[in-house]
Amino acid sequence: MKRRHFIKNAALTSAGLAVGSTLASCAENTKESSVTKVTDDISKAKLPLVIATWHVKDATAKAMEVLQAGGNALDAVEQGCRVEEANEKGQSVGKGGLPDRDGNVTLDACIMDKHGNCGAVVYLQDITHAVSVARKVMEDTPHVMLAGEGAKQYAISQGFKPEDLLTEASKEAWNKWKIEAKYKPIINIENHDTIGMLAIDKNGDISGACTTSGLAYKMGGRVGDSPIIGSGLFVDNEIGACVATGLGEEVVKTVGSFLVVELIRQGKSPQDACEEAISRIVNKPNSDYKNFQVGYIAVNKKGETGSYSIHQWFSMTKFQDGVNEQIQSDYFNKA
Ligand code: ASP
Repeated sequence: MKRRHFIKNAALTSAGLAVGSTLASCAENTKESSVTKVTDDISKAKLPLVIATWHVKDATAKAMEVLQAGGNALDAVEQGCRVEEANEKGQSVGKGGLPDRDGNVTLDACIMDKHGNCGAVVYLQDITHAVSVARKVMEDTPHVMLAGEGAKQYAISQGFKPEDLLTEASKEAWNKWKIEAKYKPIINIENHDTIGMLAIDKNGDISGACTTSGLAYKMGGRVGDSPIIGSGLFVDNEIGACVATGLGEEVVKTVGSFLVVELIRQGKSPQDACEEAISRIVNKPNSDYKNFQVGYIAVNKKGETGSYSIHQWFSMTKFQDGVNEQIQSDYFNKA
């Protein structure tokens, strides 16, 4: 099943940030015991390990190559994501990504390392490898996030070459969309999806990254969950990591990836934690979940993984123990 068979006909509502202060306090009581537990089990994990959203075996293969060569998890997730960013056929990430409703391809990406350091870029234009710019922001600036023109100028100053990211195929798709499109806040959201990747290296250290061109035909200036630490991605090297895909507004409202990692901290398996995070979305009063998709993948310090989505056809690619495979995700809406 193609990655693109995903979000359909969702109505975008306001994309306000829901700050998870209550979640932070949840963690405190359980931290010590959980940390001890997962650390004890780490030797049992079959490491290294890479997982990614969707069917991206070339990307996980690249990440595994980095890990097998002795590279760390941070290098692995960056290199893995770059494979999809450079793949012009993938219309959800990097070059060839579908544009916003004005025809501008705008990229969001973030990265997080084993120390809890993170970097992000939002509304980045004309630079294919958004994930690498995010890493530069993390490592070489005093900031966590750069946006728009500032992010682009920073990237150029660091040697990234600007190029037109709108390919003929994406332009054609946009032109087709424009025939019916109405320029108003209710968006006919086309299928779209983010590449999120999590890796554990031979030392047992975890890193994660995600990169996207966001929702196709979004409003100009719209930023989704993917570059928002805690929403699109969260890594806690003592506990585990999670990355999201799907309708970013819904992930942001539940601080989804942070929630999953906190649930793992409290003792849930990655699978159960992903399921609980999805249930928070679908069980909201008046949830419109039938009209949108969200999917999570997660890993814990033991190297156990999980994935879950609202609707069918979400999948995770997993490379562990010599096997690089696509795993169909279980899902909530079986009606
Ligand atoms: N989460 C991304 C966003 O909302 C889109 C996706 O994963 O399909 O921008």
